[in-house]
Amino acid sequence: MTCTEFLAMLDDMIDDSIVAAETRAEVEQHLRKCGHCEVVLNTTRKTIEIYRSHQIYELPYEVNERLHAAIMTRCKAKRC
Ligand SMILES: [Zn+2]
Repeated sequence: MTCTEFLAMLDDMIDDSIVAAETRAEVEQHLRKCGHCEVVLNTTRKTIEIYRSHQIYELPYEVNERLHAAIMTRCKAKRC
């Protein structure tokens, strides 16, 4: 799994029930070697928790874009 693939399914990852066990294993494997994606996942989860506690269910597009841009920049530099 690449960073791009990970980011493409980030939204599904947040909702744990959607992701198949096989896919989850691939993601976990990627996260073990790619700390940046791990940070993105954790940050996104936390952000969503905050939004849910305020009864807002949509992650703002802007936040999503910012996270994606940051991770892609770092991962490209590292070629992970
Ligand atoms: Zn990655």
